[in-house]
Amino acid sequence: MPKTLIEPFRIKSIEPIRVTTRAERERMLQAAQLNVFKLRAEDVLIDWLTDSGTGAMSSRQWGAIMEGDESYAGARSFYRLERVIRDLTGMPHFIPTHQGRAAEKVLFTAACKAGDLVPNNCHFDTTRANLEYLGVEALDLVIAEGLQPSLVHPFKGNIDLARLEALLHKDAARIPFGMLTVTNNTGGGQPVSMANIRDCAALLHRHGKPFVMDVCRFAENAMFIKMREPGYENKTVREIAQEMFSYADGATMSAKKDGMVNIGGFIVLRDERWLEPVRNGLILMEGFPTYGGMAGRDLEALAVGLEEGMQEDYLRYRLRTAEYLGERLDAAGVGFVRPTGGHAVYIDARTVLPEMPVQHYPAWALCNALYLEGGIRGVEVGSVMFGKRLDDGTETYHSMELVRLAFPRRMYTQSHFDYAAEVIAEVKDKAASIRGVRITRQPRQLRHFTADFEWV
Ligand SMILES: *Cc1c(COP(=O)(O)O)cnc(C)c1O
Repeated sequence: MPKTLIEPFRIKSIEPIRVTTRAERERMLQAAQLNVFKLRAEDVLIDWLTDSGTGAMSSRQWGAIMEGDESYAGARSFYRLERVIRDLTGMPHFIPTHQGRAAEKVLFTAACKAGDLVPNNCHFDTTRANLEYLGVEALDLVIAEGLQPSLVHPFKGNIDLARLEALLHKDAARIPFGMLTVTNNTGGGQPVSMANIRDCAALLHRHGKPFVMDVCRFAENAMFIKMREPGYENKTVREIAQEMFSYADGATMSAKKDGMVNIGGFIVLRDERWLEPVRNGLILMEGFPTYGGMAGRDLEALAVGLEEGMQEDYLRYRLRTAEYLGERLDAAGVGFVRPTGGHAVYIDARTVLPEMPVQHYPAWALCNALYLEGGIRGVEVGSVMFGKRLDDGTETYHSMELVRLAFPRRMYTQSHFDYAAEVIAEVKDKAASIRGVRITRQPRQLRHFTADFEWV
């Protein structure tokens, strides 16, 4: 077998991307107040802002779009997707929503009350926000290894079972259910092992608590288990995913990730415990139970996408792509969160800009430099995103300064990754000329999306 791992698809329909000059990019970044969120997408050459809903659908999915049954109640498209989801998850109740955060909102509104506490390996930001909005405490219990960027561990998304057990002894009355997020997005797209999923479920069940999974990247997680966990090397990704689901009592999903579609989500439930309030909440907040938040055509595209997202040659290419960029960064002396995760590579900006003080937001500065140098858009995960300006004008800073490059599914080829690796290496060589930034205007919450900056 040749060693080169190729993209397991060919291209039928293309979308041009525009090469700009450095002078143009300087003008456009200035017009965006040095905030890449405010760039127009058509002014970006390689857009790695997020992998959420940004991927390419297949010709089979586009074909399925035409099959969409847009009936208000009882649409054929609902029953088709229900069959696919029941077979995958083994759970009888499928509730479609418009995206993952809507699934969270509907489920949490039905299952939690103010004062409750929900443990997870790491809550994704919308999961945390939906819980906190209801007055529920969202607690992260990822293993200590999961918090050390340069430490290599096969399952850095695992939950710390000893801490979970202590919590169940101490605070049982406040805990409506426990969660695991697969893969652990917040922790760098790191997988959770089957043993950890199984033990977490057993521990919760011993204490009479249901187990809910956030399964946005269930297929990537299953592929990591196949590649890294002894005993799973000869199982199919579908079998591994089915086993993962078999331990859970319910799950929330953003179909914009491993559902391989541009919009959609769902809840699945094993029993009737929350079904009635979930259905009522769905009708109130999303739509009638057989379409929820989705059009019939989107239900069809998802039915195909869930199957395609589990294809092993696709998953091998996807995980290898991130790993390959990691190898190129390594060769250039650029640090990143190790091992590379499923959907993204997180550059450690401190290894590129070791001298820049945190007050000048080095990860934000690196993000801007990647755009200026090569038209690449990533996202800062550092002190702009997680720091805060206090009322007395002082700031708190984040413990890490990372730039996340998240890869849309089936969109970019190896030459795009080679190009990006060259741009990053070039930026590292020119690090001495990279300027930091200061904030000139910021909202009180989620400041990274809309804040304005100037060069220091
Ligand atoms: C994207 C994501 C969500 C939220 O899904 P949306 O479709 O963006 O609303 C929840 N959890 C995780 C782990 C995610 O990655």
